Amino acid sequence: MHKVLANDGISQSGIDALEKEGIEVIVTKVAPEQLENYINQNGISVLLVRSATKVTKSLIDACPGLKLIGRGGVGMDNIDVEYAKSKGIHVINTPASSSQSVAELVFGHLLNGVRFLHNANRDMPLEGDSNFKQLKKSYSEGHELKGKTLGIIGFGRIGRATAQMGLGMGMKVLFNDHHHEEADLTMDFFDGQSVTIKLTVSKLDELLKQSDFISIHVPSQKNGYVLGKNEFEMMKAGAGIVNASRGGIIDEVALVEALNSEKLAFAGLDVFESEPNPEIKILMHPKISLSPHIGASTNEAQDRIGLELATQITSLLN
Ligand code: NAD
Repeated sequence: MHKVLANDGISQSGIDALEKEGIEVIVTKVAPEQLENYINQNGISVLLVRSATKVTKSLIDACPGLKLIGRGGVGMDNIDVEYAKSKGIHVINTPASSSQSVAELVFGHLLNGVRFLHNANRDMPLEGDSNFKQLKKSYSEGHELKGKTLGIIGFGRIGRATAQMGLGMGMKVLFNDHHHEEADLTMDFFDGQSVTIKLTVSKLDELLKQSDFISIHVPSQKNGYVLGKNEFEMMKAGAGIVNASRGGIIDEVALVEALNSEKLAFAGLDVFESEPNPEIKILMHPKISLSPHIGASTNEAQDRIGLELATQITSLLN
């Protein structure tokens, strides 16, 4: 019988689906230095992680009983995938399960940015009529998203889900992607109707120049930042930017400079160059809306992730 260790957690729906197939699931958090012993002593054949647990070459070498490593989520930066595969270990992830949740978080940050909600939430608890009136004045020059141009860099699963939401809000959507020239986006409505919209790729510099807001959805890059000083200079004055992909894709030093010089109006960040300890100048910046890498952290996404892991584990191990 296979035993699963879910070291960064798994949804109850995922546990139920695995147990239904006779697979035992242990949900606990074993410290990195004890992981090797725990896996070997408990006869674990499946190790499930999210982004926290690192699955290194030395862990793989030390645990010959491992048959499968599963990542609940998309990015596999924390797993030595090639090495695991070379040892005959299955490596799986759940790429589609969290796209909608990440896209919705992007809009949370965009709406914070244009209506100053992150600051209003911090400032409102101070009591007094004069404080309320002052805040009302400070936050009176918001913007609507409808009619504005949303530029999306990286037009895979999350980029497209974000585009669909943008189109739904009445925005013009531009996209740039290394591998896609055009895309058909089908929008499904609650009453069963659907509309398909065809979009054609934009050059990066055109997208940067024309967009009021930019959201980036590319994987970790080997060649450094995708957006840095030069790209910020090309952007419209007063534009906003959201990064819910990976830290290290945006140059945070250049970002802070662009915000301080008023070139950019705001940024929304779910991921950080120095995660899990973002720089204080990022954490305290009034023009940055923050979230602690929670793009996929909704009950709906976690349910889908758990079920998708269970389905793949069952089919690969049986
Ligand atoms: P995906 O593979 O479906 O799409 C990525 C797209 O980016 C691809 O179409 C690829 O061609 C394109 N691309 C790669 N490099 C590019 C570049 N330099 N310029 C333009 N296009 C480029 O991936 P996805 O599922 O949409 O995920 C996107 C990102 O979101 C990943 O980095 C993933 O790790 C991250 N993510 C974050 C969270 C979170 O909690 N914030 C959750 C899930 C995924």
